[in-house]
Amino acid sequence: MEKRYNTLSSELRRRYGSRLGKICIDGGFTCPNRDGTCGTGGCIFCGERGSGEHITPSTIENQVRSYLASPAASKFGGYIAYFQNFTNTYEDPGVLRGRYSEALVDPRIRVLSVGTRPDCVDRERADVLAEFLQGRDVWCELGLQSASDKTARFINRGYDTARFGNAVDLLRSRGIEVIAHIIIGLPNGVRSREGERELAETVRLINSLPVSGVKIHSLYVMKQTRLCELYESGGYEPLSLEEYVSLASFAICRLRPDIVLHRVTGDCPRALLAAPSWNAYKTRVISSLDSYLEAHGLYQGCLCK
Ligand code: SF4
Repeated sequence: MEKRYNTLSSELRRRYGSRLGKICIDGGFTCPNRDGTCGTGGCIFCGERGSGEHITPSTIENQVRSYLASPAASKFGGYIAYFQNFTNTYEDPGVLRGRYSEALVDPRIRVLSVGTRPDCVDRERADVLAEFLQGRDVWCELGLQSASDKTARFINRGYDTARFGNAVDLLRSRGIEVIAHIIIGLPNGVRSREGERELAETVRLINSLPVSGVKIHSLYVMKQTRLCELYESGGYEPLSLEEYVSLASFAICRLRPDIVLHRVTGDCPRALLAAPSWNAYKTRVISSLDSYLEAHGLYQGCLCK
């Protein structure tokens, strides 16, 4: 079935002539929302490993070299070095420079991609990222989740939405591409969840900024998180697959047509997934979304003003 939105794989083929393999790296960072700098306990959905649960801890160079030596890597002609766990700009500039350099051990790494929080991007850190633009692209993945400050407070995000726009401007002015992470189905109170109104606001914010990519995550409940406690006490009800597909389509139709969708569903290791069970079947989620868009004659940007 032909995709009705811009996929990352098509974009990579267009830019680099082939898909790129993603090397997921635990760079040894922590998060200011966990160590007490701006909060403790982290965002309510965040697991103990800060989203890189599948990564085997090792030195940065070893993580990269072991991926490159694996059978999975042989399918690709080039790679993305993706610093995934926690907040990957939350260190002194010299430390950041060293850790990013340690990953770039192979000329086939075409992209340095760094996941972080908008309140951990300042001029100095944006300058360090820009140093790595020589001969490769640099992407910064910013966790927005929602444009609603009410939701942000409830999920303990730890920064105001205005910080997102500031970080995008700092990065884009240096040639660094920004990929925004958003989550569908977030709670904004006990037994209260975001719906179309909040999602429209989040998409409107993204459309108003020079963001080049979006990752759409379905909110899943990971075991041993505060969201899991809320779920188990009856304070949060996960979306059904049908609700998720409808809301994801709602967002895609309103998203600017030039933005690339890097992902359209969340990915939780099965052993850690408490709910919803449908989240474990990524292919089914994506095909349900594709079928819904097709059946309703919808495509990315068709309702973007
Ligand atoms: S900002 Fe990211 S790493 Fe930090 S607590 Fe929130 S989700 Fe976890």
